[in-house]
Amino acid sequence: MHCPFCRHPDSRVIDSRTSDDGLSIRRRRQCPQCGGRFSTIETASLNVIKRSGVVEPFSREKVMSGVRKACQGRPVTEGDLALLAQAVEEAVRQTGASQVDTNEIGLAILGPLRELDEVAYLRFASVYQAFESLEDFESSIAALRADHASRPAPRAD
Ligand SMILES: [Zn+2]
Repeated sequence: MHCPFCRHPDSRVIDSRTSDDGLSIRRRRQCPQCGGRFSTIETASLNVIKRSGVVEPFSREKVMSGVRKACQGRPVTEGDLALLAQAVEEAVRQTGASQVDTNEIGLAILGPLRELDEVAYLRFASVYQAFESLEDFESSIAALRADHASRPAPRAD
């Protein structure tokens, strides 16, 4: 990183801070030659390999549109979808990979979608995991039920 003031080719990092969304790192730097201070923001790129082999940048909007279909008629808002897409991006980035396939994106969607709306989750999972029979639905529902049973009962407000 060249100093923007004197073009000195080196700089010293004096402070690093991760952004609130965890997606970028802001570094305060100081030039050892002129003492000038500047900051840089580093955002790791994240690409998705589609089934066709095409590579494209990760897009929260694509995650939202994929999930939106499964949420039709459900009490899910655009804000919920935006939060879900953010959670998906954070989960995928946390793996440290710069390139993931659509399969991994689908897997990352399942968890937060299940928290958001179980019917939408079942719809999404049935398409994504290519459910072939009623048994597939039954085993997914059984897994949801078992989870409910192991959770503390929700407080009655
Ligand atoms: Zn400088």
